Amino acid sequence: MPNVWDGIGAGWSEGKVKSMKKCPFCAEEIQDEAIKCRFCGEFLDRAGKSKTRWCFSTSVVVVALLCLGPLALPLVWFNPRYKIIIKLIVTVIVIVVSIGCYYLTMDTYHRLTEQIRALGIK
Ligand SMILES: [Zn+2]
Repeated sequence: MPNVWDGIGAGWSEGKVKSMKKCPFCAEEIQDEAIKCRFCGEFLDRAGKSKTRWCFSTSVVVVALLCLGPLALPLVWFNPRYKIIIKLIVTVIVIVVSIGCYYLTMDTYHRLTEQIRALGIK
C-alpha cells in the first residue's frame, strides 16, 4: 500500500521550494511573487536585477534628509522605489521643517541681538 501522506508531503514541499526565492538584501526565504521583503522591508525588482544603488536605500535617504534637509530631496525624487505620493509627502515635510528651522533660527538671532542691545554691549 503506497503511503499517501509521503506523496502529498513531497508535492507540497516541492511546490513550496519552487515558489520561494532568497531576498538579495537579507538572504531570507521569501515568496517568489513578493515585491517587498517581509523580513527587511526592502522592495524587490520583479525582473530580479536589483540594481538599486546604495544611495537610494531608505536609511541613507533618511540620514541625508536629516543632515542636508532640502538638499537631499533629489535623492527622494530620483529614487525608483518611492511612489509619487511618498515623494510629495516627504517634500512637503522637508520644506515645512526647513521653514520652521529657519524661523526658529531667525527668532533666536533676534532675541540674542535684543539681549545684547539691552545689556548695552552694542
Ligand atoms: Zn529581505
